Amino acid sequence: MIRPILRHGADVLHRPALPVQAPTPDIQQLIDDMVQTMYAAPGVGLAATQVGVPLRIFVADITLGRDPSALHVFVNPTFVIRDGMQLEDEGCLSVPGFNATVARPSRATVKGLDRNGAEHTVTGTELLARCFQHEMDHLDGTLFVDRLRGLQKDFIVRKIRKLERTGKW
Ligand SMILES: [Zn+2]
Repeated sequence: MIRPILRHGADVLHRPALPVQAPTPDIQQLIDDMVQTMYAAPGVGLAATQVGVPLRIFVADITLGRDPSALHVFVNPTFVIRDGMQLEDEGCLSVPGFNATVARPSRATVKGLDRNGAEHTVTGTELLARCFQHEMDHLDGTLFVDRLRGLQKDFIVRKIRKLERTGKW
């Protein structure tokens, strides 16, 4: 089932998510829905908080579904290693219509449980490393906008507030 994606301003997006206790059928259904929702958007990653569930789960696929082996599911993920730095343009399904250059690690290794509760570790570089950091941020209640500074941040936040005021957000 495709779930509605919440936008910047929704409480759950701005608070840290909680650890998952066990990979119950409900959690597996949530994961399946998140994958479907991510592909439908389309996006390269989606965190549970974006569909209104405050749990530490994210899914990612930088091939947008073209390569079945490129789908990554992480429950209770943690970083093992992060190094390097990349500066690329970035957006978010919860901040539609906005992009900004965000500093991210150039390599990131994430460890966590898969859909069946088995531990796995994946190392991403370039776009996948960026995606991992972006989704991990979601689980801590941080959006890419929060990573910006000064005028760039003010500009985007002001535009979002205006859209909210006029009922277009
Ligand atoms: Zn996002």
